[in-house]
Amino acid sequence: PTSSHLVGLIGTGVGPSLTPAMHMAEGRAHGLDYVYRPIDLTSLSLAPERVGEVLTWARMLGFDAVNVTHPCKQLVIEHLDAIDPVAADLGAVNTVLFTEAGAVGHNTDTTGFAHGFTEGLPDARLDHVVLVGAGGAGTAVADALLRLGCTHLTVVDLDVDRASTVARELVGRHPLAQVDASSFDKLSILLPHSDGVVHATPTGMAAHPGVAFDPALLHPDLWVADIVYRPLDTALLAAARAAGCRTLDGGHMAVHQAVDAFALITGLTPDADRMSQHFRRL
Ligand code: NAD
Repeated sequence: PTSSHLVGLIGTGVGPSLTPAMHMAEGRAHGLDYVYRPIDLTSLSLAPERVGEVLTWARMLGFDAVNVTHPCKQLVIEHLDAIDPVAADLGAVNTVLFTEAGAVGHNTDTTGFAHGFTEGLPDARLDHVVLVGAGGAGTAVADALLRLGCTHLTVVDLDVDRASTVARELVGRHPLAQVDASSFDKLSILLPHSDGVVHATPTGMAAHPGVAFDPALLHPDLWVADIVYRPLDTALLAAARAAGCRTLDGGHMAVHQAVDAFALITGLTPDADRMSQHFRRL
């Protein structure tokens, strides 16, 4: 057994990611020699389609594990030797462990959202939840909500075909739940009767300021979760607080994807509160 760990983050533009700092601080707190480095496909001039080769090189160069992010979470799957059932259902992998059995894929975005949700909005009602944004992150969130016991999920996206496709796939994976698709213009009908809304579009990030839907639709019986985490306090969350809603910021998912990955990589139980406090100081 070795107490040293070498971990990478494969994706485009991953240089500024806060995930390496989160892992390394937690590794230090456990007394590990834990090195976590970005492997930025953009600065290496490597096309995302070459992720399989990068995986092979990482393994040959002695990495113990990698996180995989945009745009490689689907592309990486065909290069794995085994895949955890939750990640296989989702069709996306963000953590690859190099084990004796080969490269094994997991998805801690979906487990991380679930753990962050349970931490930040305990006892929140999940009878009818609206998900705004059906991209890669939104799909991981949808699976998490349905595993947490959401009985009716409505998926909304500017791209209505995408919302319908995602909803259909979710029904296939969660046959006991009601999952449907809708459009932005129906939010005025949906939100007054919903328990909660999760926002998973890029709106609210520094590069895409604003709120994705009319904040006048928010009401005190609705909880509001935003997965945007740069900034942590988005215009949507400010409007939700002003409307009297319980809120959850995107830091919970960002931290818990790292908490769950650290646990998989090291076999140790990370201190989620310590990782969260560190993340919020970064
Ligand atoms: P993506 O591009 O795959 O999907 C975004 C989806 O939002 C698309 O389907 C798009 O059609 C839809 N959309 C709906 N309304 C939109 C609008 N007004 N403007 C733009 N798009 C709109 O992106 P993704 O990978 O799913 O990530 C979405 C956001 O989630 C990211 O920008 C990031 O802020 C956040 N995110 C957070 C975490 C976390 O750990 N907290 C993790 C991953 C992503």
